[in-house]
Amino acid sequence: MHAAAVARAAELDMGVFIISPNEKGGMLFRPTETLRRLSEPFHPMHLNQRWLLSDPRVHTLSVGPETPDQLDLHMAVADRVGPLTPAEQAALDRWTHTRRQALGTDFCTECQQCLPCRVGIDIPEQLRLRNLALAFDMTEYGSFRYNLMDGSYDWFHGPSGDHCTACGDCLPRCPEKLDIPRLIFDTHDLLKTATGRRLWA
Ligand code: SF4
Ligand code: SF4
Repeated sequence: MHAAAVARAAELDMGVFIISPNEKGGMLFRPTETLRRLSEPFHPMHLNQRWLLSDPRVHTLSVGPETPDQLDLHMAVADRVGPLTPAEQAALDRWTHTRRQALGTDFCTECQQCLPCRVGIDIPEQLRLRNLALAFDMTEYGSFRYNLMDGSYDWFHGPSGDHCTACGDCLPRCPEKLDIPRLIFDTHDLLKTATGRRLWA
């Protein structure tokens, strides 16, 4: 999502400091059972932080451990620089495979090519939350983030999905040929009032 900003920072020889990637990336300090299982033998926070720090353009992460053992996990990752190991890459590949499998033909790649939306909806971010909710049971996280999209927070762009007018302007720009209005309305239905509802058996 912020790939362009990271690339530009590298061009300008600037350091990259990523704030709170475990909370913003999915409340990974309290992972769902699905994500925990897919990540084994690693903790999801380990994979998230290793993936970020394996990029030489990324220099610093902020973390906020809830418990002493979480600090141990963060420190262990900080001591392991360099490329991902084959086992770490395999676990991350399971994340990707599971998302694609769970979403099927409704999988949004978050490429951002559909933007701008005529009413300012952040389509990739809303569909990213849908992806995570459906693939990893991350409804609590998705609902937390989605319900902040009410125009009162600078860090959350655009209105909630119920503002979609179904104008169709974004449709030709989506390389995946997604039915964006349907998915946006579905995301709203899923996350606006969700309180951890079980999404599938
Ligand atoms: S169809 Fe909806 S999401 Fe797409 S541009 Fe129009 S208002 Fe935005
Ligand atoms: S263009 Fe399509 S695949 Fe890309 S972010 Fe938008 S909805 Fe998702």
